[in-house]
Amino acid sequence: MGGSVRDLLLGKAPKDFDVATSATPEEVQAVFPRCRLIGRRFRLAHVRKRGALIEVATFRARFDADDDESQHASGRILRDNVFGTVEEDALRRDFTINALFLDPVSGDIRDYVGGYQDMADRRLRLIGDPDVRYHEDPVRLLRAARFVAKLGVEPDEDTARRMPELAPLLQGVPPARLFEETCKLFMTGHGMRSMEALQRFGLSVTLFPGLRGGAGPGKIQLGVLLRHALENTDERVRTAKPVTPAFLYAALLWSSLDERARAFVQKGDPEYVAIMRAAEEAIAEQARRTAIPRRFSAVTRQIWLLQPRFAKTRGKRWKRLLYEDRFRAGYDFLLLRAKEDPSLEPLCEFWTKAQENMEAPPAAARSSERRRDRPRRRYRRKAPSAG
Ligand code: ATP
Ligand code: MG
Repeated sequence: MGGSVRDLLLGKAPKDFDVATSATPEEVQAVFPRCRLIGRRFRLAHVRKRGALIEVATFRARFDADDDESQHASGRILRDNVFGTVEEDALRRDFTINALFLDPVSGDIRDYVGGYQDMADRRLRLIGDPDVRYHEDPVRLLRAARFVAKLGVEPDEDTARRMPELAPLLQGVPPARLFEETCKLFMTGHGMRSMEALQRFGLSVTLFPGLRGGAGPGKIQLGVLLRHALENTDERVRTAKPVTPAFLYAALLWSSLDERARAFVQKGDPEYVAIMRAAEEAIAEQARRTAIPRRFSAVTRQIWLLQPRFAKTRGKRWKRLLYEDRFRAGYDFLLLRAKEDPSLEPLCEFWTKAQENMEAPPAAARSSERRRDRPRRRYRRKAPSAG
């Protein structure tokens, strides 16, 4: 059901199969004793079968609008645990193309909302009144942008019209959930298209409040560096290379960081101190909207702090930089900066050659090298919070 049926119809391999059932989570657990019941806002059962993790959700009815407990004053849904029929379950889903069910017994597709035709027409359509549905869960604005980017569908007039105007609703969504969405937007192979969709629907400034406004409501200035970063990330996903939100945030917030750091330098701070202070501010501002877990923001900061050190190529001390933690990420970031500022190209060349001529690491540097050999924690897609 949901995303997996949609992906099957599109001829894409679904990354997971979600199961919907009339059984309650407790009844599911009675059949699969080893499953885990998870979620608060949206309770479901995680069943493990042959190494695969299957999300099993009980059919939901539309939540009860009179129940103050389950709804925020803004109309936002806080809990969604009222069980219902399969048809009711289809109706409370977000988009029609996400509301298709595959009946495992008959093999039929059950469509209560016209999702099959919308799929054929490549149309993205919210189920019900868009105004109500966006208020219930503003993340649907971002999901719309993501499906446009990922599936090449186009929102219909009603689904698209008020998106720029409703974008500020995202300010009421918990930052941790917005971080997850940001990762799905930018780290899954269609980051550039996601950014274009966010721009088109006027959502970018709300998601990245520290960035300069661009040409048009809700847009940001999309510079050369950021474009290249998004394209590189997409390319790395295509070629199955690891990607990390730390690098993405380094690129996203670079203009904000750079501007702030320059201001601190002008007030007399040494460059390193200026970058530290600027990083603190830039990251804090972003984290109020999309949380940035510390294990990522720490690396983002390291990438930035390496930048002024790349400029110091005289004497002998520069060699040590080659063995620094995060040298490679910092170097990649330098290459990115050179796309925007060609005067950095000689520096890039210097560091490219330096790596080619790299000798065995000096004893002092080797310990930090060894630390790098540890399997590093990388971003992994977590189970979606919304079921
Ligand atoms: P993906 O390919 O990213 O997994 P998906 O559509 O499967 O996309 P999930 O977050 O895995 O997205 O959600 C599974 C299904 O749950 C969706 O297809 C949709 O039917 C429903 N759903 C998810 N989030 C929401 C939401 N915010 N509001 C309503 N329904 C939702
Ligand atoms: Mg899914």
